[in-house]
Amino acid sequence: MASIVILDEFTANQIAAGEVVERPLSVVKELVENSLDAGAGRVVVNLEDGGLKAVSVADDGCGMDEEDLRLAFQRHATSKIKSASDLGQIVTLGFRGEALPSIAAVSRMSVTTRTHAALTGARAEVEGGSLLSVSPAGCPPGTSVSVRDLFFNTPARRKTMKSPATEGALCGDVISRLAMARPAVSFELRIKGRRVFYSPGTGNLTDAVTAVYGVHQVREMVAVDAGEGGLMVSGLAGKPSLSRSTRSHITIIVNGRYVRCPVVAGAVEEAYRTLLPQGRRPMVVLSLTVAPDLLDVNVHPAKLEVRLLEEEKVAGLVIGAIREALRQKTVIPSKTVVPSTVMEIRKKDEIPQNHAQITFQVEPEEAGPVAWDIPLAEKISDAAEQAGEEAVDYVSGTKGLPRLNVLAQLLPTYILAGGEDGLYIIDQHAAHERVLYEEFLSAGRAGASQCLLVPVVLELDYRETAVLTEKVLWFNDAGFVIEHFGGNTFLLRGVPLQLPAGQEKEFFLDMLDYFKERGPGASRVEFYDRLASSMACRNAIKAGEKLSLSSMEALLARLTRTETPYTCPHGRPTVIHLSYRDLETRFKR
Ligand code: ADP
Ligand code: MG
Repeated sequence: MASIVILDEFTANQIAAGEVVERPLSVVKELVENSLDAGAGRVVVNLEDGGLKAVSVADDGCGMDEEDLRLAFQRHATSKIKSASDLGQIVTLGFRGEALPSIAAVSRMSVTTRTHAALTGARAEVEGGSLLSVSPAGCPPGTSVSVRDLFFNTPARRKTMKSPATEGALCGDVISRLAMARPAVSFELRIKGRRVFYSPGTGNLTDAVTAVYGVHQVREMVAVDAGEGGLMVSGLAGKPSLSRSTRSHITIIVNGRYVRCPVVAGAVEEAYRTLLPQGRRPMVVLSLTVAPDLLDVNVHPAKLEVRLLEEEKVAGLVIGAIREALRQKTVIPSKTVVPSTVMEIRKKDEIPQNHAQITFQVEPEEAGPVAWDIPLAEKISDAAEQAGEEAVDYVSGTKGLPRLNVLAQLLPTYILAGGEDGLYIIDQHAAHERVLYEEFLSAGRAGASQCLLVPVVLELDYRETAVLTEKVLWFNDAGFVIEHFGGNTFLLRGVPLQLPAGQEKEFFLDMLDYFKERGPGASRVEFYDRLASSMACRNAIKAGEKLSLSSMEALLARLTRTETPYTCPHGRPTVIHLSYRDLETRFKR
């Protein structure tokens, strides 16, 4: 007797629901994406109990006629592609025809819809996947979907839900990302009818980002804009002062789709590597426009991830675009007085009463941008976070380093210098690192090589061999002379001029290790950058080394000529500034 059966549609939908509908946020995401695909200019989402009791999404999009409405609940029913050949050219958010039947399989759903041409609309009721009724209905043009009692018939899944507050926060997160992905659409989120988030839909990304993060943070972001052969990058990049401890404030949008894209995310962080201290993440909203045939969106059941062809080119462009944008605004750490109110609030560890009227609290580590998370509360926690760290704030200015006169060397680790506005304390190692790093990069790609009298023998494992084989030209360009000795053995005959003697092998292996971990997404730009910062670190004068007056002066002169004098290549500050005003305040003059 045959034991293989073809699953009926009902069972297939239940299985698909398990993949596509994980929690209320998946319902919100799929329904809003349908509204966007329907050409909506305005989308209103309402939540009850964080979406566990009800999620409804109303739009002013194209609507459906009665025949399409019936079809929409069938598995693989989609108006968006006709055959597999269309998969290479997807421009809509949906295409699998799975969302409506999957959500309907695990909830009580009703859809009311009307096309703009029709005089009346239609309404369908579905419960646990069975179509109960379709009837005429009076309604405005557009579609309104209501999903009640999610997972009422799958109690095991229902039990894995977090609190309504957490589920609601996750829904809010996805709505704010969609609002940034589609600035031309106006989004509104209501909690039991009360508006908690609104984006105006002006078509301007800055307006959408302002709706999400608030005007104060957006003021600390700079515009990113670059393009190259069918690839465009635009968005907003936060100055280092907006850094965060998690990646939740990095939003990547590819062709109007909010996605996870490890290659671009890696490139974003790489762009900030020398500007942020270790463990800090930037705040960035980046929108990429890519030809649809250079993009695979069909790699994840909830369409959360995309894969880019030409990854390296994209990464290089992203790194360049963000760095260029940030370079325009240099950043100097300066001693700032933290407002006492902030410190008091921190001490009491609470938020002032009048700002606490939010329906649910947000867990910032999990949910990223959440608009109704009152901006003031966020500002307070930010300021307090920074105050707690070092009481040193990064203050941005557009000027370079001023002219400095060396006064003395302290500890022998710090250089004390006087400038037009007060005292400057320079970390000699960090400053020298910055200087060497930029000097190496500006010397051009074809690094000068020094020949080793005794070649270094390298025995590599297969992954190291693979990395080396793939990147050998990059190494050559940088000044490494490598000879294949046979099997997995290589001879290092020459190294870049700047590399200190005796460290050749360790350095070379470190570089291989880095690219082994980094995977194929690493770009040439990143390679040189990494090389430059590692060599700078090894060559820079150490803390504790005594310096003559003239060598300190020479170092500061070289630092003044760098493009980013205020941080070392690892993102630590090179200079701390105490202005005359700071001094007056402290001496109470
Ligand atoms: P997909 O989005 O992958 O096509 P869905 O199951 O999400 O699959 O939706 C099935 C079809 O129902 C869509 O292709 C579309 O034609 C129609 N539809 C769904 N939601 C809407 C809406 N809000 N407005 C107009 N049509 C819709
Ligand atoms: Mg869809």
